[in-house]
Amino acid sequence: MKVNIVGSGSIGSSFMSASLIIDDHILVDVPNGIIKYLKHLNYDILKIDTIIITHLHGDHFLDLPFLMLGKYFNHDRTSIKVICPYGTTKKIQKLFRLGFPYDFRKVMENINIEFIEHKGRNNIILDDNIKIHSINVKHGTMKPCFGYIININGKTVGFSGDSSYCNAIDKIVVS
Ligand SMILES: [Zn+2]
Repeated sequence: MKVNIVGSGSIGSSFMSASLIIDDHILVDVPNGIIKYLKHLNYDILKIDTIIITHLHGDHFLDLPFLMLGKYFNHDRTSIKVICPYGTTKKIQKLFRLGFPYDFRKVMENINIEFIEHKGRNNIILDDNIKIHSINVKHGTMKPCFGYIININGKTVGFSGDSSYCNAIDKIVVS
């Protein structure tokens, strides 16, 4: 498993907000600006086929429309799965309405994207090799907020977004 921390900053820092890319195709959180930054780092964004979102603060999901547009502009219909909190699809639709009016439906019809919305404590099995366990974590008044335990071919990495310390963090650490 190759894990690159492409963002380690907070909203106010000069670093990209928290984000991981795993094996060049699994993106964990989609902070504002991350798609351009991945291109700057010479990642092929069309290889991204799995996106995992911890919570719906803007610095964790606002760039998803730009990945969708990238797929659309490149006529890329390869599958992309978005594992995300309940309500994400409606928020993405609103973002399109604000930034790219009338384009949401057109983009959705021409790319192959599936939003796997969940409410926590789920085991999501993408294929024989990738298993993702979501767990509720604490993040002030923001609810829901998820950490994830991602297992690929028997190797595991955990991610908690920017939650505060809680029992769930211990579970992620020892997994
Ligand atoms: Zn947050």
